[in-house]
Amino acid sequence: MKIAIGSSEVVPFAKTGGLADVAGALPKALEKLGHEVVVILPYYKMVKKGNHPIKKTGKKIYVQLCNRIVDAEVYSSKIGKNVKVYFIAKSSYYNRNELYRGAQGDYKDNAERFIFFSKAILSLLEEINFRPDIIHCNDWQTGLIPVLLKTIEKDNPFLRKAKTVFTIHNLAYQGLFWHYDMHMTNLPWDVFTQEGIEFYGKMNLLKAGIVYSDKVNTVSKKYAEEIQTTEYGCGLEGVLANRKKDLRGILNGVDYDEWSPEKDKFINSHFSSSKLSGKLACKKDLLKEYGLDISPEKPLIGVISRLADQKGFDILAPIMEKLMGLNLGFILLGTGEEKYHRLFSAIGKEYPKKAGIKISFDIGLSHRIEAGCDMFLMPSLFEPCGLNQIYSLKYGTIPIVRATGGLDDTIKQFDVSTAKGNGFKFTKYSPDTLLNTIQDALSVYNDKALWHKLVKNAMKCDFSWNQSAKEYEKLYKSVK
Ligand code: ADP
Repeated sequence: MKIAIGSSEVVPFAKTGGLADVAGALPKALEKLGHEVVVILPYYKMVKKGNHPIKKTGKKIYVQLCNRIVDAEVYSSKIGKNVKVYFIAKSSYYNRNELYRGAQGDYKDNAERFIFFSKAILSLLEEINFRPDIIHCNDWQTGLIPVLLKTIEKDNPFLRKAKTVFTIHNLAYQGLFWHYDMHMTNLPWDVFTQEGIEFYGKMNLLKAGIVYSDKVNTVSKKYAEEIQTTEYGCGLEGVLANRKKDLRGILNGVDYDEWSPEKDKFINSHFSSSKLSGKLACKKDLLKEYGLDISPEKPLIGVISRLADQKGFDILAPIMEKLMGLNLGFILLGTGEEKYHRLFSAIGKEYPKKAGIKISFDIGLSHRIEAGCDMFLMPSLFEPCGLNQIYSLKYGTIPIVRATGGLDDTIKQFDVSTAKGNGFKFTKYSPDTLLNTIQDALSVYNDKALWHKLVKNAMKCDFSWNQSAKEYEKLYKSVK
């Protein structure tokens, strides 16, 4: 099949979260299955600064936004050996410090930036003469594509056989804009209804993707079920329930070329489940990098995350003092909400020997944390898939998670009597339950032989893309 993947972020070019990891790895796995894949993303400042081998193609595309024609240039590169990547270069939209938001919050012209992006993807496919069987859209930034194909573009002979798959990576981010932005879509107003893309008087681009795509999926089976309930549905549970028969859950895979302790390019000592000495060396390096002064024998708990309520920081915050009273070290890497910057910076200052806090986005350091910690904390309120718990398993860094979404699908509670399982999990979203679960993990850590068994179980888990890419292939075939 010819598959075009549109994504607002793609590893290694531009990343703020898990979407980028998926959009960078899935194409390689699909290609291995024999498909022809192209990936399209904006040409951000971050892409330019990354020193990737990127070429100007000399091609230009033209997009209608209301009554204006907006042009853009096209750049290209590759992922892996053969997957072609195209960048839409429009500096007034994308040549900014961040992808979606500045210090003052979301960029005010995000509707225009991503309506343009969605339309530009369709123009680009024609310009490069790539006639897709499938256009795989991801999140609200490309949610307009399925609507365009069913309305304005429905008689376009070039795109006539293109079917759409829409992946929800996080239902909480919907691309909600005031209805005046509708004029830039050039869509007929009859799509602006409750059955269409209207949502409480606004235009909802995620809803657009859900309603108009040929198939919808999200990134774990559990989350696919959860989002049909009022608790997790973010107001779209009814819309999702309506599409139940076309809705799938496909767990994200992991790119083990990037995330393996045997060959990770960001760590100094490599290791494997049969030779764990390198892990201790990584732990010592990490303690040094964070300037912590605890014995490497003591348990070290890590967190790498967007600092947002979704990730469970509101239940972690109240137990931080108690946690610091225990015999352990704590390491955090993250950026996000200002209230958490302040909270964790204060913890770092109060416990400089035991708590290492870095408020930044640092891919190399995220690998060193995975390698050097003993435990990894993800107490999320909701988690569509979650990648760090899966990376953690491969590095023998034991996940402590809340049983929700992809965390529930990937982590099996360790049973001390049978020594089966790969982590620790809890259900009730409360500070006390979280603290008890951490204490359970610490008591197993004190039994070296048992902990060793648990680390081996974790490192044996395989979440490579092979399986998930086959499930995507099946989904694509089901709409052809
Ligand atoms: P989400 O996409 O909701 O943020 P995921 O667990 O699906 O969560 O993916 C997060 C990805 O972003 C992981 O690859 C993680 O390592 C990375 N990440 C998150 N915060 C940081 C950070 N501060 N520095 C480096 N990488 C980060």
